Amino acid sequence: MALPSSARLTIDLEALAHNYRVLTAEAGGVEAAPVLKGDAYGLGAGPVARRLWAEGARSFFVARVSEGVLLRMELGPERPARILVLDGLPPGSADALAGADLTPVLTSLPQVEAASLYAAQAARALKVGLHLDTGMNRQGMTAADARALAQSPDRLRGLDVELVMSHLGTATDPTSPRSAKQLAAFERLRALFPEAQASLAASAGIFLGAPYRFDLVRPGVSLYGGGPFEVTHPALKQVATFEAPILDVRVIAPGETLGYGDSLRIETPTRVAVVAAGYADGLIRAGKAGGKGWFAGAARPILIINMDLIVLDIGDAPARPGQMVQLMGPNAPIDDLAAASGTVAHECLVRISERAERVYLGES
Ligand SMILES: *Cc1c(COP(=O)(O)O)cnc(C)c1O
Repeated sequence: MALPSSARLTIDLEALAHNYRVLTAEAGGVEAAPVLKGDAYGLGAGPVARRLWAEGARSFFVARVSEGVLLRMELGPERPARILVLDGLPPGSADALAGADLTPVLTSLPQVEAASLYAAQAARALKVGLHLDTGMNRQGMTAADARALAQSPDRLRGLDVELVMSHLGTATDPTSPRSAKQLAAFERLRALFPEAQASLAASAGIFLGAPYRFDLVRPGVSLYGGGPFEVTHPALKQVATFEAPILDVRVIAPGETLGYGDSLRIETPTRVAVVAAGYADGLIRAGKAGGKGWFAGAARPILIINMDLIVLDIGDAPARPGQMVQLMGPNAPIDDLAAASGTVAHECLVRISERAERVYLGES
């Protein structure tokens, strides 16, 4: 059991379910397949997947084969979900994929070849997806690869292509012309595989309009409360609340220096709370510049973030040791913390470490 002096990460699965419904509605009713890579962005793939299954989700994405194997166990035989693996079929992974009934999203011609060979050896059809690159230049087959496959169906022998997908590089910036270019490229390529489901949009793509939604959307961060465009979205709820208790309250006199180094000179008497959280809990050290913690009804500036301690300017708010400060949650939105930390909500979520006690609300 965690002692009261530790930081706590509360995962509100009711809020997660709410966000799933918001995103499904926004997607106009096409299938929404939650992205659960990185242990569901650090929130726990098992509880998150089981709750989303209860909400009607039947397909899930993970990055690694190992994540897919674990997710299959977490879901159990009573929830026979389709689990799609974004890494596709890395060398040596075919048995693990087949053993856990995972669907690899193949990312290259050599992967297609390996999958087809495996299907021949196993003497049964293998369900696969194809990842087609439309301009992000990170993962997926080129347009030429896709055409080569479509023109010689032999290379797909033994493979049942259920899904073709691509990923947008600039979806979080609705003004970028690159998204429309990728959309046009994807429309051309998906037409080569007319039988397969098509998918282009992650969280942000869902909000770019109907043409981006195709047959299936792949929301990740917005399920967990991150705004699609890296700012808080009014219809989405915060799923993760990170809180830590006050250890001490003190007043720092003018002319004093706070913490390590000489840079933080105190100009006026400053009442601070010393809070039991730090970068060992996964908070990002850079977040002190502009980061805020919520305490006693107001957002309070963070002054320093060390490994185990945060110092927060609490003004004249009544405070005593043991009271909790919210560093992420409904009153300290993840996108604000991400902006202050010079990163994205995804990274703030996955960084929360094992030291923080996990509490789940609304488990199913
Ligand atoms: C991570 C990822 C997603 C989900 O992205 P979010 O921005 O978290 O919604 C969807 N598709 C692919 C290919 C991804 O890598």
